[in-house]
Amino acid sequence: MNFLHSLTGSFAQPAAENPTVAMIEAAYRHHGLEWRYVNCEVAPEHLAAAVRGARAMGWAGFNCSLPHKLTVIEHLDGLAPSAEIIGAVNTVVMRDGLWIGENTDGQGFVEALRPVCELEGQRVTLFGAGGAARAVAVELALAGAAHITVINRSRPRGQELADLVCAKTSATAEYAHWQPAMPIPPGTGIVVNATAIGLFPAVDDQLDIDWATLRPGMVVADAIPNPPRTHLIRTAEAAGCTVLDGLGMLVNQGAIAIRLWTGVDVDRGVMRRELETIFGAA
Ligand code: NDP
Repeated sequence: MNFLHSLTGSFAQPAAENPTVAMIEAAYRHHGLEWRYVNCEVAPEHLAAAVRGARAMGWAGFNCSLPHKLTVIEHLDGLAPSAEIIGAVNTVVMRDGLWIGENTDGQGFVEALRPVCELEGQRVTLFGAGGAARAVAVELALAGAAHITVINRSRPRGQELADLVCAKTSATAEYAHWQPAMPIPPGTGIVVNATAIGLFPAVDDQLDIDWATLRPGMVVADAIPNPPRTHLIRTAEAAGCTVLDGLGMLVNQGAIAIRLWTGVDVDRGVMRRELETIFGAA
């Protein structure tokens, strides 16, 4: 018998509405892994102590959510290459006695995209320039996308992301200011919503875009996990686009974190079904 489980978890504030614990523990149970995931409410002033506590208790790693994705970096021993470029960490892994920061958000997005389209040479239109958009833009560029048009409401954030992609990856990027009824630029193969528009409870909010410029053959992905079938997903599907909902990204970023911690590639269907039940989308 083994009564000592390996420990992982999440540090965030607020933590109560984060369903990650249910998704990750469903995977641990399904695979008979003697691992636990503890959802912790950690205030910013206690983050350093929480990271020290995790080390003292022998945790294998942890997720960081808002507001710790940037500030956790000063408490780590190193960063994986893409997390270094993105400048934010959502997953921390204990490797050879060192806390290493990873960012699995964009990797999860890219893993969801790979089965439906070739990434090499793609032209991407990306709405948003926050944390999710940074992770998506950097990973798409590292995966071979040729060009990214960043469209954002606030110019400085959008311009900064376009500049980051140009400076740190081999892709080209430009910022386009978000105009009313914004058209999707011609030549776009992949459209991504990485803004918060459409997230529960504001489920009727819509992107202000020229819907007629969504063309059959485009891949349209939404980072919003709840509800999975956003207005964008429904409209793009009706326009003949291939669609990817935000649940795929959420499941994949969690599955990649589990792989980093445990070495096991878990069944993503189990995780997705758990979230669908939680979000009432089954
Ligand atoms: P941030 O707060 O860092 O960024 C929010 C982005 O949304 C900014 O670009 C912001 O524009 C834009 N935005 C918000 N409201 C509006 C609006 N009314 N009109 C136009 N633009 C708007 O958040 P994150 O990047 O961390 O998260 C963004 C979304 O991605 C969230 O809804 C989150 O749920 C989702 N997400 C999904 C993940 C998944 O695994 N599926 C993982 C991580 C995030 P501006 O710069 O002008 O303020």
